[in-house]
Amino acid sequence: MGSNDLAKLPQETSPVMLHGDEDRSPFLQAALNGDRVHPAAPRSPAALAKAARAAIDAGAQSVHVHAFDRAGRETLDAIACAELLHALRALCPGTPISLTTSAAIVKDPKERLQIVEAWREMPDLVTANQGEPGVVELCELLLSRGVAIEAGLLSVEDAEAFVRSGLAGRCRRILIEPLEIDPGIALQHAARMEERVVAAGITLEQVHHGFGIACWAVNRRALDRGHGIRTGLEDVTVLPDGSPARDNTELVAAAAHLIKEYGLPAGPTALGHPTNEDLFVGTPVRAVTS
Ligand SMILES: [Zn+2]
Repeated sequence: MGSNDLAKLPQETSPVMLHGDEDRSPFLQAALNGDRVHPAAPRSPAALAKAARAAIDAGAQSVHVHAFDRAGRETLDAIACAELLHALRALCPGTPISLTTSAAIVKDPKERLQIVEAWREMPDLVTANQGEPGVVELCELLLSRGVAIEAGLLSVEDAEAFVRSGLAGRCRRILIEPLEIDPGIALQHAARMEERVVAAGITLEQVHHGFGIACWAVNRRALDRGHGIRTGLEDVTVLPDGSPARDNTELVAAAAHLIKEYGLPAGPTALGHPTNEDLFVGTPVRAVTS
């Protein structure tokens, strides 16, 4: 708690300033892989580092990644995660790196805690889904080791658990992550999760993303409300117009463009913003877990 702890958190605004942006652009994170099966979804440390570099160059300020083992399975294993962090840091020095801790990778909370306890190379941040068993202990462990927490909220129940956990004062940010493919439902869900944390007086930075085509609607709503956004192949495989994205870079460039639009002063151009309804196009894609 308090300013001492805050001072230890990674300085995630610095990459933006290094790029010479005088304004404080909304936060943009690239979620490069997850468990997405896609020809352009990177899995090896080298491929992830290359994708991360391109995402940063396209406007991302941070990357979120999942490590894979040599058999092609997602892993939280210390050596695989360290290899990945080394590769990313070599190609993207100074970029805050967020690793997953998803229970979809290691289901048993005790086993997951033991695996994470063995980490020697620490990420800057982790995503920690607040609805998962054992997440509070996991967050406490990682906080004690100087890792910043991105508190993932996938439901209103998760938001309520997060409020009850008392972790909010020590987290870096909240991820609002409605899973619904239907953009209208995803938007309502994002609003309900946001309301719940705001009602509890939690003023943490928020980053919003959806899944599939709903991602873009959720992103736009977030920007409307002054929040950060996340995009990338973990979350979505199509561009705002519903056409297939070639790769992470194309998704990040589209998100950076969205941010630029929202940064424009109110006027005729701003009035030309597509409404959320304009985004309800394209083929829905399968939701994935974060
Ligand atoms: Zn993830």
